[in-house]
Amino acid sequence: MNYQSTRDSKISFSSAEAIKTGIAPDGGLFVPSEIPSLSASEIENIKNLSYVELADFVLGKFLTDYTAEEVHHCASNAYTKEKFESDTIAPLHKLNDNTHILELWHGPTCAFKDMALQILPYLLTKAMKKTGEEKEVIILVATSGDTGKAALEGFKDVEGTNIQVFYPVDGVSKIQKLQMATQLGKNVNVTAVKGNFDDAQTGVKKIFSNDDMRKKADELGYVFSSANSINWGRLVPQIVYYFYSYATLLKNNEIKMGDKINIVVPTGNFGNILAAFYAKSMGLPVNKLICASNKNNVLTDFINTGVYDRNRKFETTISPSMDILISSNLERFIYHMSGENASFVAECMKKLNEEGKYDIGAELTKKIKEIFVGGYASDEDTVETIKKTNEKYSYIPDTHTSVAIKVYEDYVKETGDNTKTVIASTANPFKFNQSVLSALVEEREMEGKDEFELLQMLSEKGNLNIPDSLNNLKKMDVRFKDVCNKEEMWDMVHTFLTNK
Ligand SMILES: *Cc1c(COP(=O)(O)O)cnc(C)c1O
Repeated sequence: MNYQSTRDSKISFSSAEAIKTGIAPDGGLFVPSEIPSLSASEIENIKNLSYVELADFVLGKFLTDYTAEEVHHCASNAYTKEKFESDTIAPLHKLNDNTHILELWHGPTCAFKDMALQILPYLLTKAMKKTGEEKEVIILVATSGDTGKAALEGFKDVEGTNIQVFYPVDGVSKIQKLQMATQLGKNVNVTAVKGNFDDAQTGVKKIFSNDDMRKKADELGYVFSSANSINWGRLVPQIVYYFYSYATLLKNNEIKMGDKINIVVPTGNFGNILAAFYAKSMGLPVNKLICASNKNNVLTDFINTGVYDRNRKFETTISPSMDILISSNLERFIYHMSGENASFVAECMKKLNEEGKYDIGAELTKKIKEIFVGGYASDEDTVETIKKTNEKYSYIPDTHTSVAIKVYEDYVKETGDNTKTVIASTANPFKFNQSVLSALVEEREMEGKDEFELLQMLSEKGNLNIPDSLNNLKKMDVRFKDVCNKEEMWDMVHTFLTNK
């Protein structure tokens, strides 16, 4: 199977090349030339597979230039009990008869990004070997908080790789900042950018598409790559856990083979929910895909009207990993929904770039609405939902998951739909301890407490264990203190590479 650019079907790469380069040469994103479809018996069989076996199976369908042994090497090293707390890797927590929470945050950095970023370094180093690459790779990451840490943790001290992370200086939680600033490893660099996530992401995309910078990196002995969800190697591992959640529901006798489920995803860059769309396209029985946003509700409006319009105020919310106005992966979605129409995608992206908006038209919007539901939740709703979920079910969701729960509850109220539903839970509540606690205790109880006292408080409140990786942060030195302007991002990369 080959990979094409969303903006030009004539561009064709192997999966190894697509993963190595991250983004297509014309600025488009790599998409598979066809979406493999599973037979009924293949889907039936998934309930007999362990997480690693299922990853072998799904990845094997897409990465056809990797041998089965290579894929297995990647999956079996990434999805271990040591890294994900148990062999389950992605456990399903039953909230009530209809609602199941898919906990994707049992990896080393406490967010769902680990599901892809623990395996990406294996996929990428294999890709470099397979394509005969002799240079080292420099991975450039823009992060709204969670990708940065997960990528740093995945790539630290991986031979042949280096990683530079940019995060918005005031756009991440204190715990997230500490996680990144204390990162260990010889091949890592972390810089805060004065601006928001979109500024950081745009800055990184500019470096990628700048021939001059690419040449300078090349002269120093490096090729660019990406660990953001624009990289196909990030997306494909995320398809696995949607099948896994279905298999778990089957095993627990919650559904019968062939029953449809709803999937709710708290969404930012549209990567996680796009993976659910791929799973559905492969044959996973799905009724609705519910796209949950926070107050940056550009996707809610898009799904409801067909107009994508980023000309609006950027809101800083308590679910910062979803504070995004340019959802990169929507480009892949429009490509598939428009019948692989690359020139249409190119035109939309040109309009987005020049005017900040585009309109996909009534017909395509109707088609999207048959599958997708869009909704959003305010910060007040998010806090209220954490509180209620705890009171009703003794379960404390993080802020992002809470957005998804709220949007799902609104959907059920409106439609009466009682289809069994999987809600993707994207972060451990400890990672956003301050906002989560504000739903559970009085403001004055939190006053004057530092991050670690707040972890302790949440632990007592919820009768939950503090993840070691967060508790240990207090013993670690801050290594990275640089803050740069968005125009200076390349200088930071250049200095990092020159001084290595
Ligand atoms: C990244 C992230 C999201 C958004 O996922 P996308 O794939 O960008 O849509 C949601 N919640 C958390 C906690 C995240 O880290």
